Amino acid sequence: MAIEQTLIVVKPDGLIKSLTGNVISRLAEAKLTIMGAKVMRVSRELAEKHYEHLKDKPFFEELIMYIMGEVHKTRRVLALVYQGDNAITKIRDVVGDTNPEMANPVSIRGAYGRITTTGVFENVVHASSSPEDAEKEIKLWFQPDEIIEDLYPVKEVTLKNVKKLVWA
Ligand code: UDP
Ligand code: MG
Repeated sequence: MAIEQTLIVVKPDGLIKSLTGNVISRLAEAKLTIMGAKVMRVSRELAEKHYEHLKDKPFFEELIMYIMGEVHKTRRVLALVYQGDNAITKIRDVVGDTNPEMANPVSIRGAYGRITTTGVFENVVHASSSPEDAEKEIKLWFQPDEIIEDLYPVKEVTLKNVKKLVWA
């Protein structure tokens, strides 16, 4: 038994193709617990930190434009945190291979992904690939109060002169 957390992001191609419902149904096959969920915009800063490990690849800039929604003209993604026994492997199995043409056709990427003419894998979802990546990614994409339980240690800070929007 290894209780793991994992970050899943339904990428802009998934949103523009109205696949969020299908993706969540497919993820349910892994029988995990959903801990957090939000629709959000991906800033360039978040995109570059998330894909830091690929910064030397020739497709890096295109990948950043893809995850930011610039390619699909929809600046929205759905970010999800799941937790459970062997969560990372279970989710990666349902999600399928990085290359949608190589992915099992019954996996999410196999069923819904494509390769663009410039060679970028538009593969509908991101899923963490190790516990270390999951921790880094969840801390990057979510604040503690956006997740139903404290998955990692937290500390209390008092913020002064912080501006925020409230309902008028
Ligand atoms: N990617 C790509 N071409 C490649 C490798 C990766 O377009 O040869 C894109 C693809 O969208 C992938 C993302 O970069 O999901 C992150 O790559 P990674 O190797 O981390 O694959 P993943 O963990 O998403 O399966
Ligand atoms: Mg990866």
